[in-house]
Amino acid sequence: LIIDRHLTCKNKESENKMNIADIFKKKTVFSFEVFPPKKESGVETVYNTLRELKDLNPDFISVTYGAGGSGIAKATTVDLCAKIKNELNTETIAHLSCLYNSKADIDRILNDLNEKGVKNILALRGDANPDYEVKHDFKYASDLTEYIMSKNMGFHVSGACYPETHQEAANIVEDIKNLKIKVEAGADHLISQLFFDNNVFYDFIEKVRVAGIDVPVEAGIMPVTNKKQIERMVSMCGASIPAKLSKVLQRFGDDPVAMRDAGISYAIDQIVDLVANGVDGVHIYTMNDPYVAKRISDSVTNLVKNK
Ligand code: FAD
Repeated sequence: LIIDRHLTCKNKESENKMNIADIFKKKTVFSFEVFPPKKESGVETVYNTLRELKDLNPDFISVTYGAGGSGIAKATTVDLCAKIKNELNTETIAHLSCLYNSKADIDRILNDLNEKGVKNILALRGDANPDYEVKHDFKYASDLTEYIMSKNMGFHVSGACYPETHQEAANIVEDIKNLKIKVEAGADHLISQLFFDNNVFYDFIEKVRVAGIDVPVEAGIMPVTNKKQIERMVSMCGASIPAKLSKVLQRFGDDPVAMRDAGISYAIDQIVDLVANGVDGVHIYTMNDPYVAKRISDSVTNLVKNK
């Protein structure tokens, strides 16, 4: 029994050290995204959220990074990732954006991540924000990716991608060409922007593969549990709302409990279809809501356990 336990621990340990891109070889990856609390008072709440998410056995939990790092309480991206990795024994990805960071800032963050054993980074450009001063050391996420890889510190880099085309890109062809630069710079895994129409994602994947990008692409799924939240998200990222979701919003949008149930079901439907069509992985934008994450996880956990 002791040997058995020892082996189980060893297996768990080696699983924990696995590169995220390698997990895709074994199963359909299932992951969560959380954001750091905006206020000091939210720190305990986010810790509780992380504990509940860990119990759902995700392949990793990623933590977003705010522009300039400001407006964020003591529990920063790095601290939360360290907690996920070292206390909750769950793999993690630290988001890191570069528009408002100099090379010296990035060096400091990389050293901090390295010391805390966090080895996965989602390298991002970040969104323009007039409240912060652009540092000009990095223009695109691919510049940050190249810089991190050049450091030879053993980091694995992931990147973002846009099934409905990034809002600033001239067209999808240019956007995918730019995505290829990011992958050639070292990103070995991509996570998509949220989308509500799976056909949009399938068309995008076809184009990505034709372009010769062959790294795993996770589908970003945002459960629509609140009409206002979705209106805000759609205006920010430009995701289109298919007729099916529009009807759901019309019918249930003013009834919070019904809207939450309908939104969870819609997300589950999307995931069932994605997995049936061979998606590499599913990344849930949890909005720090463990209840919603649990209902989705309970419904799809048997679907994602194998390749
Ligand atoms: P890039 O890959 O640099 O692309 C930005 C634009 O530049 C695109 O239009 C692209 O086509 C173009 N481009 C790229 N490379 C080149 C090139 N070499 N030459 C010419 N044009 C080029 N933001 C945060 O602030 N914090 C977060 O934690 C965060 N997490 C995110 C997680 C995911 C999964 C996603 C999808 C987005 C996230 N974002 C986050 C938002 C992201 O910062 C914005 O969408 C931003 O506008 C673009 O970031 P990017 O890394 O995709 O940029």
